[in-house]
Amino acid sequence: MTETEGWMARAGGCLANTYARFPVVLERGEGCRVWDVEGKEYLDFVAGIAVCALGHCHPAIVQAVTSQAATLLHVSNLYHVTPQIRLAELLCQHSFADRVFFCNSGAEANEAAIKLARKYAKDRGTRERVEIITMEGGFHGRTMATVTATAQAKYQQGFEPLLPGIRYVPFDDLAAVERAVGPETAAILVEPIQGEGGIRVPSAGYLQGLRKLCDASGALLIFDEVQTGIGRTGRLFAYEHWGAPPDIMTLAKALGGGVPIGAMLATEEVATSFTPGTHAATFGGNPLVTAAAIATLTTILEQGLVARAGEMGGRVLEELQTIQARHAAVKAVRGKGLLIGMELDREVRPVLTRCLGAGLLLSNAGEKVIRFAPPLIVSEEEVRAAAGILDKALQEVAA
Ligand SMILES: *Cc1c(COP(=O)(O)O)cnc(C)c1O
Repeated sequence: MTETEGWMARAGGCLANTYARFPVVLERGEGCRVWDVEGKEYLDFVAGIAVCALGHCHPAIVQAVTSQAATLLHVSNLYHVTPQIRLAELLCQHSFADRVFFCNSGAEANEAAIKLARKYAKDRGTRERVEIITMEGGFHGRTMATVTATAQAKYQQGFEPLLPGIRYVPFDDLAAVERAVGPETAAILVEPIQGEGGIRVPSAGYLQGLRKLCDASGALLIFDEVQTGIGRTGRLFAYEHWGAPPDIMTLAKALGGGVPIGAMLATEEVATSFTPGTHAATFGGNPLVTAAAIATLTTILEQGLVARAGEMGGRVLEELQTIQARHAAVKAVRGKGLLIGMELDREVRPVLTRCLGAGLLLSNAGEKVIRFAPPLIVSEEEVRAAAGILDKALQEVAA
């Protein structure tokens, strides 16, 4: 039995069986590379599912986490702590928002957004305004409210009854939203670019159209930027591409550079509906995770990594388009910045498994789309190396 097989057998005996994990045990990382327990090296184009924006063991994050751990880890939100205040100020300075609620994950941030939207409507005396409109193919998390907001049967089956008051419309179909919006609509919740749904970028005018519909109807616009936020798409927040700011935005994934943190940002007017006692999270915004997030965000901003994500995204797109021209199985290549999908005419798992064997980590977004979400610090050379491995894997799968 190899060391990997030994660990896998132990995992099989004690972990909840919730993940179709690849047969590899990762132990260590540096930059855009990770190593498994056998010492094999991998180029990491998953980055913890768009989490590790600065790659692995970035000195700024290591320094922030170790020094904060030696100072103060946790005290609860019964007290003020300086890293939480500094991070909220940073997020507000660089976005549409005026106030921030911290939690621990993307799902929790979306829960907070849904709760705030309903509370905001109640506070204005519009008791019938309870409905949240979400988009087919979207993904918002795995809690009961957010899995209900996730309009994909495969995530919901077996967990019924779902949360009442959530309504689905097709993604990127403004007319469908127009028909669905009414006096009962509390909010429209949408990813500016669908991530898990297959890296789907909406048509020009779609998000601006949603903004106008919300302004006209009194519904709130909520952008789930859990995957698209913090520079990934070549703007700090994806909504900037379309000049359509939301009323509420949720963040998680890359915000902490690898530590678990979520955030819900809102305008002053909307945020006032959260008052003491209305919502809370024990760990939310604790000193450890907010110190890591400050280090992540300031490094991304100071080193120009947002613009760099746009440029390197262009390089990745070129490489993938060259590959597309060589392989009939590739149907489309699409995305923004360093969030790119390659759609195949078949399931991508065998391609991902071959890439893993050749030393490249890649993930899927849906059954037939390969997702490319490398750290924002990825180099041209690493992009070329990844493209070479993928090209060969596609060749082998076709043969
Ligand atoms: C990953 C993701 C979530 C869920 O985040 P968790 O931290 O896993 O709860 C929500 N929305 C989007 C768009 C995501 O990509």
